[in-house]
Amino acid sequence: MHQCECDVCQADSDPVVEHYHRQMNLLLSRLNEPQRRWYVAVMSQAPGSASDHRLSLITGLDEKTIWRGRQELAANLADLAPDRQRREGGGRPPSEKKIRR
Ligand SMILES: [Zn+2]
Repeated sequence: MHQCECDVCQADSDPVVEHYHRQMNLLLSRLNEPQRRWYVAVMSQAPGSASDHRLSLITGLDEKTIWRGRQELAANLADLAPDRQRREGGGRPPSEKKIRR
């Protein structure tokens, strides 16, 4: 689990902020890589959110990764279907046009 590197946690000055950052990192530690960047990308767009630089210190994701997450969300995760992993395992073949008999 990533240890927050923001100034507040470093200075040990605000238990509420520290708790929040720990919870974020706890959640992130249970997500897979794309889920991590989408979560942080959503956080980055919250009204009054921390800057990407700060989110990067908090979460350990780099700013480029957060930016990429935002791009993917902006495109509605179009290229990243939720069932893609299952399909790659060789499920049902792609449906074809029905042929009239
Ligand atoms: Zn922090």
